[in-house]
Amino acid sequence: MKLLEERIRQEGLILSDTVLKVDSFLNHQVDTALALEIGREFGRIFAGRGITKVLTIEASGIQFAMAAGIALGVPFVYAKKKKAVTLSESVYTAPVHSFTRQETYQISVSQKYLGPADHVLIVDDFLATGAALVGLVDIVRASGAKLAGVGCVIEKSFQEGRSLLENKGVEIHSLARIASMAPGEVHFIGNETV
Ligand code: 5GP
Repeated sequence: MKLLEERIRQEGLILSDTVLKVDSFLNHQVDTALALEIGREFGRIFAGRGITKVLTIEASGIQFAMAAGIALGVPFVYAKKKKAVTLSESVYTAPVHSFTRQETYQISVSQKYLGPADHVLIVDDFLATGAALVGLVDIVRASGAKLAGVGCVIEKSFQEGRSLLENKGVEIHSLARIASMAPGEVHFIGNETV
């Protein structure tokens, strides 16, 4: 998605060879028009597939899952990272190891909101090591729902996430695929968006 690549070039802060900060338009302050356009792009990619629900993980996937849900005319659900006292019903859970925080946490989704009748599109902001998305894929599979695929806003293709998901048979569409980066420069893989 050209518009997204341009914003990454203009405003992305490359903190190291592996960490990209996009706080001015995606991750902290959110450009709402861009977020809606990202949702429309996911909507175009997954149109006609009978998606019934978009699934993401709190917090940074929420605005993109909402935008994709609006584009596809379906609800979105976000996995919670901490079990809330209000989440008293049965839940699907999966462990996620965060390499940035060096900790493992449980994500959970109420069994009320995901089940065998669903056809799910998973959306998230970044595909890096793939740990968060693998957790979501495991939850979809545990629920008996069908998985259409994964939509990522930014993929760091030099990390192992894509191959991890592909090995699980997951279809992945990323709107910006970074082949490599270093402070002051970023190289994209030719994008596949429609
Ligand atoms: P994973 O390693 O599980 O694929 O990524 C987990 C989460 O870490 C992503 O959803 C994203 O929120 C965050 N993350 C991973 N790499 C980056 C990065 O380079 N920049 C930012 N801003 N977040 C990242």
